[in-house]
Parts: sequence; C-alpha cells; structure tokens
Amino acid sequence: MRKMAEYAESSRQQMREAELPVTMRALRLTGSGLLFDARYPRPAASAGDAVVEVTLAGVCATDLALVDGYKGGYRGVLGHEFVGQVVEAPGQPEWLGQRVAGELNIGCGECSLCRRGLGKHCRQRESLGIVGRDGAFADYLRLPLANLHRVPDEVSDEQAVFVEPVAAALEILEQLHVAPSSKVVVLGAGRLGLLIAQVMALTGCELTLVGRNPDKLAIARGWGIEGIEAGQAHVTLGADAADIVIEATGAPSGFALGRELVRPGGTLVLKSTYAGESPPIDLSHIVVDEIRILGSRCGPFAPAIQLLASGRIRVHELISAEFPLVEAVAALRRASQPGVLKVLIRP
Ligand SMILES: [Zn+2]
Ligand SMILES: [Zn+2]
Repeated sequence: MRKMAEYAESSRQQMREAELPVTMRALRLTGSGLLFDARYPRPAASAGDAVVEVTLAGVCATDLALVDGYKGGYRGVLGHEFVGQVVEAPGQPEWLGQRVAGELNIGCGECSLCRRGLGKHCRQRESLGIVGRDGAFADYLRLPLANLHRVPDEVSDEQAVFVEPVAAALEILEQLHVAPSSKVVVLGAGRLGLLIAQVMALTGCELTLVGRNPDKLAIARGWGIEGIEAGQAHVTLGADAADIVIEATGAPSGFALGRELVRPGGTLVLKSTYAGESPPIDLSHIVVDEIRILGSRCGPFAPAIQLLASGRIRVHELISAEFPLVEAVAALRRASQPGVLKVLIRP
C-alpha cells in the first residue's frame, strides 16, 4: 500500500511538473539595462529546493540601487520581496500548494560562518535577485525549502509582500536594546523608514520620524507617530537629541544628519545601502563621542509574519501602485520617482 501511495504521489508530482511551462516571463537586469523577457528559462527545483509561483512582488530601494550599479553589476532577474505558492518541491509533497514568503540569503552551508549560524553573511552566499540567484520579478523563482515560511490565511498577499522589509526593520530590535525611555529618531520616511518607525513605536520609546515629504510624514502621523521635516530637525530636536538614530534615508547625506542628532555614547544604526561613494566620516569624532555604529540588514521572518497577522504593522497606506509583470519596467520607473512608496508587481 505504501509503495502504491508513494507511486501515486510521485506521478502526481511529475504531472504537476509536466504542467509547468519551460519558459516564463521575467524582468532581467542586463548589461544594457532593464529588459522584460517573455521567454526566460523557468527554474527547476533539485532536492531541498522549491519552485515558487510568484503571486505578488514588491519593489524596494535595493532593486533601484542594483539598476544604478550597486553590488558591482548584478545580472539576472531582479526582486526579493514576494509571496507565492509552492509548485515544485522534490520529495517534499507536503509543501506543494503552500502559500509562502521566503528569506533571500542562501549560504553555502559549509564554511565557518555558515557552521556558526551566520549563513546570511556567508562569503559565498547567493541572495535572491541581488547576488548570483534569479529573483522574484518573474512567474517563478527557486529557493531552498529552508528559506520558506508559510503565510497564514489571515495575512493577505498585499501584507505578505512586506514580510521581508518588516523583518529587516525587526532586525534592529534583534541587535539593540531599545528601552521605553530611549529617545529614538528614524531618518527617512520612505518605504523602509515608515516600517522601521512602526516597529520602534511598538517598544514604547520616545520616537520621532524625520523625512522630506509632508505626505509621507502625514501617513506616520495617522499612526500616531510624530513626524518632522528634515530641514526642521536641527531646530526642533537640537543637536545630541537622540539616544538612537536609525539612518534609513537611502542616501549618503543621511549619515551627517544622523551623526549630528545622536548624543555622545549613543548609537547610530545604518540601514541604507546605495550605489556609489560613501560619505566621508570624521572617525575621531566617533571615537571622542564614543558613538556606536551598527550596520543592520536582513531580519527574522517569523515575528514579522506574526506582527502583520496581528495588524500591529500597517502596510496598506504604503502601497502606491500595482503593475502587471509585463509592465515591470514601468513599475521600477515609477518606484524611482520621488514621493512614491511601495510599488507592487503582479505576475
Ligand atoms: Zn528589499
Ligand atoms: Zn557559507
């Protein structure tokens, strides 16, 4: 009986796989810029992998930075924020049909960093849509099953596409103790800054969001988060105002303002990555003022999914536009315009 059931399962899986097309639609970053490709090879899963049919994907600043040449010229399918459905999982049929979000870093599994649980920092790592691995602006993507997280029914696709950036915001709390008495300033009221501000608000800290765009600050005010315009930050807050400054402007200029606002002995958290030169830093001032500088990148998915499910992190106000996959080039163009928040791509 067991043999027959296994046979039936494997032939079901083969049938499903046979139904999947050989090629797919994808937004590629090539040497001559963005290219919508209607006949790009569909990824196939090997053992331990899954192929996910993408339901919805989100454009983030990293995608735009890659187009500008960040990471020294990534070539391949862009996109790393997604929700989708598992359509291929060799030997693991329990995954088929599951709705999932996925972590983007794939370590080699063998080096000393991977063996110490630091796979996201593996020097040989691939990162979905960023380094060495085709991404989510496509009909299908491939990831190890270990990277996938089931998305519960109470989290909509529009919410689930924010799991990755909410996890990135939560990473700050994994790294740093934020006390209710902490004075925290978040610089940058963009896609990520607005999520970071919400995550920081959960701690009960004394929070100020600094941004350029009054409309975005108004969104934060709607959530009960105090927002002030960047030009007013010195006047309103004063120098040395913050115990913790989180720089999420996505621009090199954010560092200087962060440096002015953080008090001696305070912490400056850096969240921005961008193409091009980093700002000059007066390291002596960092030493004399005993400033802690903390780099912060990808974070934990499970609590991000829980927070979205609980409704304590709001995302609907952050969605500026949705494009079909065939218009993905236009979607990235829109996402790069000032004032635009999250742009979604639906295959
Ligand atoms: Zn991102
Ligand atoms: Zn490794």
